[in-house]
Amino acid sequence: MSERPKTGDGGIILTNAEDLMNWARLSSLWPMGFGIACCAIEMMATYASNYDLERFGIMPRPSPRQSDVMIVAGTVTFKMADRIRRLYEQMPEPRYVISMGSCSNCGGPYWEHGYHVVKGVDRIIPVDVYVPGCPPRPEALIGGFMKLQEKIRNTKEVAPALFLEMEAAEPVTT
Ligand code: SF4
Repeated sequence: MSERPKTGDGGIILTNAEDLMNWARLSSLWPMGFGIACCAIEMMATYASNYDLERFGIMPRPSPRQSDVMIVAGTVTFKMADRIRRLYEQMPEPRYVISMGSCSNCGGPYWEHGYHVVKGVDRIIPVDVYVPGCPPRPEALIGGFMKLQEKIRNTKEVAPALFLEMEAAEPVTT
């Protein structure tokens, strides 16, 4: 039970639905818990108590159906590309992608001779934020999350695109 005395000075917050939804989304980013190469070690370090991502409301989930962020942390081989695409499609909208490290951004050290490496994960799924480095430090990944939060804060769309299209459609007359 609250110990706060009632003063009669009620607090009022004025906002709009867009800002409220964006604030809720950016304050509870749940990344999918998966990693594909050495960058994932730095990603795991970022989740640990030293950096404590939960203070931002960020906590990894074990299923794509419960996640709204995919961190592609590592080398994307052609063998893995299909799986990454499938996991992305299993995530509910709105969904976001952070590309972590040079391998995921552009092929990294495999750029020239890595016949088995996709030269950038953005060739198979859309990417919202790129985090540079080989590997990026946890501070860089946190910076990537901050960028993503900024992007969500400036989003103008409350409802998924499908509902907006339905709203804009001509009314059916009988
Ligand atoms: S960018 Fe560097 S650290 Fe990250 S997966 Fe590639 S080789 Fe490993």
